[in-house]
Amino acid sequence: MRKYIVAGNWKMNNDLTETQSLLKALKHETNSGNAQVIVAPTYVNLYPAIEVLKDSDIIVAAQNMHQNASGAFTGEISAAMLKGIGVTTVILGHSERRAYFYESDELLAQKVDTALSNDMRVIFCFGEELADRQSGNHEKIVESQLRNALFHLSANQWSKIVLAYEPVWAIGTGETASPEQAQDMHAFIRKVVGGKYDATTADNVTILYGGSVKPANAKEIFSKPDVDGGLIGGAALKAQDFFEIVNAF
Ligand code: PEP
Repeated sequence: MRKYIVAGNWKMNNDLTETQSLLKALKHETNSGNAQVIVAPTYVNLYPAIEVLKDSDIIVAAQNMHQNASGAFTGEISAAMLKGIGVTTVILGHSERRAYFYESDELLAQKVDTALSNDMRVIFCFGEELADRQSGNHEKIVESQLRNALFHLSANQWSKIVLAYEPVWAIGTGETASPEQAQDMHAFIRKVVGGKYDATTADNVTILYGGSVKPANAKEIFSKPDVDGGLIGGAALKAQDFFEIVNAF
């Protein structure tokens, strides 16, 4: 049975004090739904986040990591460093990493391998741009992103993969894919995974939707059978909004 997840990607927001106070507020919210809750603060606040959340079910994830184990990579963070402070989930391939830091599918394949060889769980983001959707190429693009970055994995390794379909045109824009568009793409993704692997792998993989999810639209999007939760940006920065989304499950 696949897991339901609601993950908050805080991006480059919240200093130490803001991180601690948002997390304390999150701890006081009640998770009355079925979803596992994940928060991804910026690197320097990961350890303080782990400390604040010690006695909570909320899981702390990193927003990125380097593909190499160690070495002369100024400014970068390794899987072992994350694991050393207790972070075992990492977001990879976010569209902002792809756009601003030129992360390619090939690089992401390496990052995925590094994460998995360190026994980390990966939330793998992918999705088409507006022009791809307008030209009707969205499925082709999504399929190639999956193929290039993930299809070298064995079926067993997929137990550590969470997919996050995030149409780029819906991220931070206020524009959301309709619940039907999300469902159609999630069903397509599951079909592609099933075609490459098998029905069990396809059925077990959690597929999150990301792109301007808010308390007002979460319930409808999450009601779709192939949508197993959300990756939330802007609305994850307010405890009450985030938990309204969590409890939409
Ligand atoms: C994101 O950055 O992954 C995201 C979905 O952002 P937002 O919810 O703000 O669109």
